[in-house]
Amino acid sequence: MNKKVLQNYAQLASRTGLRFEAQSGAIFGLYNGYKVLVYPENENYPYILTASVSANRPGSPLSKAEGKAFSKEHKPINSMRQDGYRVKITLGQMANQEKLAANLTESLNAFTSFLHANGFQNCCETCGSTNPTEACVAGGSCMQLCYNCFVNLQQNQAVNSSEKQKKKENIVGGIVGALIGSLLGAACIVLLGQLGYVAALSGVIMAVCTMKGYDLLGGKLSTIGVIICAVIMLVMTYTGNRLDWAISVAQGFEVDIATAFRSVPLLIEEEIIDAASYWANLVMVYVFVLIGAIPTVVNTMKNQKKESIFYRLGV
Ligand SMILES: [Zn+2]
Repeated sequence: MNKKVLQNYAQLASRTGLRFEAQSGAIFGLYNGYKVLVYPENENYPYILTASVSANRPGSPLSKAEGKAFSKEHKPINSMRQDGYRVKITLGQMANQEKLAANLTESLNAFTSFLHANGFQNCCETCGSTNPTEACVAGGSCMQLCYNCFVNLQQNQAVNSSEKQKKKENIVGGIVGALIGSLLGAACIVLLGQLGYVAALSGVIMAVCTMKGYDLLGGKLSTIGVIICAVIMLVMTYTGNRLDWAISVAQGFEVDIATAFRSVPLLIEEEIIDAASYWANLVMVYVFVLIGAIPTVVNTMKNQKKESIFYRLGV
């Protein structure tokens, strides 16, 4: 998260009397008897804040109708819902820091009063026990956990990651998986191409399916895996695009698709297929694959890193 956003969060924390933790950017603490955590659910939209409380009403969790009625009544709040043992409200986006602080205070007051009035009790987010809990970062996300759950989650993660590291990458399996995945991507290029579109969607599908396929059958996705996937994506994107043209040629000249596929370069040379639009189309498809592939790779790497982050916010 950038510095300016973090500074604003630190201010928000002091305005609401809560604590601020700079590494995660989370605002946390006891508010009106409830342990609240305030954070952006999506880092790309840092000013859409979510406030969550690990609380439960024994026997009857928050209903959809209650959530709707509550958010209708309180203007700064977009939604309120319960996920497992976590009740959360989401605030509308507000760029003005003053207004955001006022909205957050108003929302926290309304939220915690509602929880009180409706018999919600503080609890652990994972096991639901009413043992004392602490705000933690577990597997990269902010959670309100009892000591046992924190330790268990951390141990499970350590076991999983050491198993993952021991696991050997099966490159042959990975290549097979990537090829199967890339076929889906190529099919998408052809299908959308036939409908007359060159869309970012087919690039995203090509990138996600190829890498997912490699990961599934290869056991894990290493740097070598990413390079292999990139080569497969390059080839399959080219093939998909050429097949798209071949289908149009086959329809126009009433030949079979294999003949049409082989004759594409000849048709370009003879200027029956316009070379400029053929190459422009190919470049566009490649750009879209890049648009799909880069965030996929970055997110995969980020998530792998995130999974191993565990610490207690208050210490
Ligand atoms: Zn617990």
